[in-house]
This record gives sequence, C-alpha cells and structure tokens, in this order.
Amino acid sequence: MTLPSNPESGEESARTIDTLLTGVGRDPFANHGIVNPPVYHASTIVYPTLAALEDADRTPYQGTRYGRRGTPTTFALEEAVAALEGGYRSIAMPSGLSAITTALLAFLKQGDHALVTDSVYFPTRRFCDTVLAGLGIEVTYFDPLADIAPHVRANTRVVFMESPGSLTYEVQDVAAATATARKHGIVSILDNTWSAGVTFKPFAHGIDVSVQAATKYIVGHSDVMLGLITTTEDTFVQAKRTTALLGTAAGPDDCYLALRGLRTLGVRLARHDETATKVVEWLKTRPEVIAVLHPALPDAPGHNIWKRDFSGANGLLSIVLQPCGKAALAAMLDGYRLFAMGYSWGGYESLVVPFNPRHARTTTRWPHEGPCIRLHCGIEDPDDLIADLADGFSRLNAAD
Ligand SMILES: *Cc1c(COP(=O)(O)O)cnc(C)c1O
Repeated sequence: MTLPSNPESGEESARTIDTLLTGVGRDPFANHGIVNPPVYHASTIVYPTLAALEDADRTPYQGTRYGRRGTPTTFALEEAVAALEGGYRSIAMPSGLSAITTALLAFLKQGDHALVTDSVYFPTRRFCDTVLAGLGIEVTYFDPLADIAPHVRANTRVVFMESPGSLTYEVQDVAAATATARKHGIVSILDNTWSAGVTFKPFAHGIDVSVQAATKYIVGHSDVMLGLITTTEDTFVQAKRTTALLGTAAGPDDCYLALRGLRTLGVRLARHDETATKVVEWLKTRPEVIAVLHPALPDAPGHNIWKRDFSGANGLLSIVLQPCGKAALAAMLDGYRLFAMGYSWGGYESLVVPFNPRHARTTTRWPHEGPCIRLHCGIEDPDDLIADLADGFSRLNAAD
C-alpha cells in the first residue's frame, strides 16, 4: 500500500516555509553580528528619567516595561511564530495548555456557550468540564466530521477546533466551521499543534485565534514547556489583555530554545512525515493490527479534507490492536529499544503510549474493542523503528 501524495501545495510552499524559518525573528547586525538573538533575563526594567518611564515604547525599550510582559527574546519568538502561522501577532505562554485555557477565557464569560470538538486534547476537555463549567459557561462537544450549524445557539461565543483530533486524527472542515462562526459573530479558535503551523495555515481558513503547544514540534527536543497564542488584528488586544490579567509569562531561556528549534522545524517535520509513512505502510500488513489511524490513509475520517487543506503530515500515528491480555500488551510495550514509553511527542526521538478513546469522547462512539497505541516516529532510521516494532509483536504473540 502506498500513501497518497500530498495536495497541490507541494514542495514549492515547503521551500518557502524553510526559507522563512531560517530568517524570521533575528537581526544579527543589531546584536554584534551574532547569528541568534541573545537570551535577555529580566524582571525589572529601569528608566533614567520620568519622561522615559512614561514612554516605554520608545527606544531603547521597544515594548519592554516589566519582565512579565516579555523581553526581546520573547518578542523574537513571537514575531517568528506569527509569521509562521500567518497571523497578526503571537503571545508566548508557559505551556500549550495555558495557551488554550487563556484563549478560551479571553472570549468566554458567564452565561456563554462554547462548541468544542469531541476529539479535543483531553486536558482541554477537562478544563471545559471543570473551570468553564464552574464559571457558568456551557460546552457542547460536536462530532468533528459533522456540521456545527445545528449546535449554534444565541449565546454561542466560541467554537474550539483541533484538527486532526488528538490520538484519533479526525480531520475537520475548518473553513466550513469558521464560515458558520463568522455568520453568528462566534470566535473560532484552533489547536494547531499537529501541523506546527507548517502544514496548515489557520488564518487562510478563517480562524481568529490559533494556539499551539510549542512543547511539541517547534521546540522539537523534548526539553521545554511552551505555548503560543496567535491572533488576527481584531482578536489580539483581547487575547493579550487576558494574558496580562492572568499574569502568565514564558521564561526567556525557553523562548530561546523554541526559537532555536524553529529553525529546523520544516526539515524535521518532513523527515518525521516520511518515516511515519513508511511505518504506516508496514503496520497495515500486520495481522496484530485491526486499524491504523493516520489522516493520509484514504479511509481515515476526514481524509479528503486533509488532502484539500494540509501540505503534509508528521510523525504521529495510532494503531488499534486485536483484543489481547494486559500481560501480552505489557510484554510488547516494556521491551522496545527505540520507542520509549511516555506522554507527549514532537521531539527527535520515538515514543509510544497506550490510550483509550472511550474515556475521552462523549458525543461520538469509539467502535473498537482492542487496545489503542499511539506512536510518535522520531528521526531514527525507519528500518530500525520497524525492526523494533516487529520485535514488539513477537513479544505480544509469545505472551498472548
Ligand atoms: C501537548 C498538547 C497540548 C498541551 O501542551 P503542553 O505544552 O503540554 O501544555 C495541547 N494540545 C495538543 C494537541 C497537544 O498535543
């Protein structure tokens, strides 16, 4: 089986992004000719005169006023990610989840209603069901493959999408949803972590606010927690004001590392994609596997939308195994040499984690009985990864 090639977008746009990523958010000749922007650590910013204090937006301050508002390191990352996502401006946040929760709080208040995809990242759902519910904000979870229009109410203020969805990769028609949202004055928010801003352009599809866990592919080395909120011109002030009210600030070392990871994002993502494609093809031949979940597969939910809207995939895929005992599953998972067991993804290394979609879906029904496994294919040699997985199936079969 071969995966279908990616849509018309093709190599031309990938090259453009790679060029953008090497140049954006840095200015060597403003910094002793040094290639990368330095790490500025700051809480206090001082002013020589009252006039300077009262006009902190002028040189040499250029927006620095207090460390919580960010330093030039933060601003460099924000500039780069805004350009990558194609938005107006970005705001660095201390984690992906804080970017999500802040974006939701920015556009919702007591008595409002929000639409959230049923395939949403589980901690986002937990925030909706606890904090938003406690504030008197009602949430309806919608089927990511269905039209949102029937769920719109007079008090609906936000539609929150994530496409492809966490763990199971349902691809949503974002443009159709944002068209409906716009008609009703609803703010469209997208968790754009899967595309990393490289393979999907949210603002070209009508999104108002795009959030990302930079923790994943932008940082790319499994060593930093970081999020970004990217907005349109219309939504920027409200998002920025909310981050200021809540008091969140991303650390400058983390912003530096994210900016460094961003330089190689396009190259890494293409390699993750290529490797995952090979692994998917191999997994489709395995009798232990009932289903392979990956949006490039023709039978994937929303595959045609993926083909229309995305210029590529990444290192993620999931599999559903034939029903088996816990001991057999453990034998398979415990013995991998290359697929380390753990949450998260987006680093250079391969990861594996079991999951159960039944615990994370309320509107849609998960059809399979067998255990589900998510794999993140790193940038190791794909043949080595396949050999590691083959040994895992041998352990599973020997123990079952
Ligand atoms: C990991 C993840 C997040 C949360 O990011 P953190 O930096 O871990 O807080 C949000 N959305 C998606 C889709 C993720 O995979």
